Amino acid sequence: MHAHDVEAGRWHPNDRKPKTLMNSLTEKQIRASLRNASKREAAQATLPDLDALDWAQLDYLGWHDRKAPLSSYVVLELDGVPTGILLRSSDAKTGRARTKGVCAWCEDVVVTDDVSLYVARRGGASGRNGNTIGTLICTEFGCSRNVRRRPTFTEAGNDPAMRELITDRRIAGLRERAARFVAEVGKTR
Ligand SMILES: [Zn+2]
Repeated sequence: MHAHDVEAGRWHPNDRKPKTLMNSLTEKQIRASLRNASKREAAQATLPDLDALDWAQLDYLGWHDRKAPLSSYVVLELDGVPTGILLRSSDAKTGRARTKGVCAWCEDVVVTDDVSLYVARRGGASGRNGNTIGTLICTEFGCSRNVRRRPTFTEAGNDPAMRELITDRRIAGLRERAARFVAEVGKTR
């Protein structure tokens, strides 16, 4: 009786699940999605093995170009449209300028020793004039994994609904921040 009362008044986490999982993308879609890359850059990008990806666990697709160590890419969906950006990192030796800090996208407080400054040329005329925008992101683009980590007892107590709520919020936050950055880079004015 009591338990039922508590249950009835309880907010249910399924009421506001983050929207659908990321749709899988083809090579063609990915190359066509790159907003701040030239046609040549988009054609030359080395893509990851798309068949090996677990799309259902991704909020965005991020990877390093294994043939061009200074180039990385992020693709996500903006209003259902695959939208990607080319990112550069500045460390010529490793290809990535690793540092300590908090990733601006997943804001994970556990993995703080491997984030990198990534810089994107802006799209359109602005980018051709040399304008860039930078952000600290997990070096290996592990944000989606980070936000799905089971919340600790300190964070959520022993309440499964609270754990789910926290995880859903983290996923939604990651998606929003990553999308905002990609949209900003892609603006062509
Ligand atoms: Zn991250």
